[in-house]
Amino acid sequence: MAQLLDGKAVSKILKEEIREEIAQWKEKGVQPKLAVILVGDDPASVVYARSKQKVCEGIGMAFELFEMPGSTPEADILAKIESLNNDQSIHGIMIELPLPKGIQKEKVMAAVRPDKDVDGVHPINRGYILSGEDGLFPATPQSCIELLLRSGVEIAGKHVVIVGRGETVGKPLVFLILKHNATVTICHSRTPDLGAHTRQADILIAAVGRAKLIKKDMVKAGAIVVDAGINEIPGGICGDVDFEAVQEVADRISPVPGGVGSLTTALIMRNVLKGIVLQGGAR
Ligand code: NAP
Repeated sequence: MAQLLDGKAVSKILKEEIREEIAQWKEKGVQPKLAVILVGDDPASVVYARSKQKVCEGIGMAFELFEMPGSTPEADILAKIESLNNDQSIHGIMIELPLPKGIQKEKVMAAVRPDKDVDGVHPINRGYILSGEDGLFPATPQSCIELLLRSGVEIAGKHVVIVGRGETVGKPLVFLILKHNATVTICHSRTPDLGAHTRQADILIAAVGRAKLIKKDMVKAGAIVVDAGINEIPGGICGDVDFEAVQEVADRISPVPGGVGSLTTALIMRNVLKGIVLQGGAR
């Protein structure tokens, strides 16, 4: 039976490290602060924004939520971003998605200063992932890597098979995990015979959004399985991996919930601290 890759335990350690780093910034006279812009009243976005606020309060990071009605013109959203870009007391800016219809998501994302873009979605940060330069990178692919490394899993030299090439998880993960010297295969909806690829994986990462897509016969005995998927099912959520069956063949496996998703908020906060450095640190 597979051992769990325990996201909650890793998240606790990460938050403790971040709390200590925040205390050090405060000693230097810098109060790290995250600003979240919420346009409209999408219920899931409201929950996500509030949960970030709670995490911030727990680790000593300042937090400000800017709520705007769903009818807000795009120009007003861009003006708000511009004022936060120029506000030296704000070190990270996040726009909760989805944005209301009629608002150009890419334009709004590109308006955030790259060194305050704690979601890692600005075209410049996307470019830095490819070039290997340092920047702010999306939290979920970072969560997959942190979960592996902090659970004592060696990535270098391993064959990592990633299922999913989405902009949020799969695609950035390819480049981040390459930096850790893995050999990477990426699969997607047009990959014929998915199982033939996934069975080759020493480390299999699912980032698809299809409940229980990865079955037991698609996983090599002794593989390490990381499930980044979140799928709503009656009574809760499940991942992209058929957890009950796959845990019988895998060596390590991340649960959903309690795996990758447990780390993401902490890693957004770590991006805020990285942002402070990129912005020139204590001024
Ligand atoms: P996305 O942009 O929709 O990408 C999904 C990817 O899966 C696409 O590349 C798609 O292929 C591929 N795919 C779809 N059906 C497939 C199939 N049957 N076989 C193989 N590949 C298939 O999704 P995303 O935003 O990257 O998110 C991926 C998952 O991660 C979702 O479940 C999402 O909820 C979850 N997520 C989790 C967190 C977290 O905190 N844990 C954060 C963000 C997202 P094509 O490119 O060919 O269409």
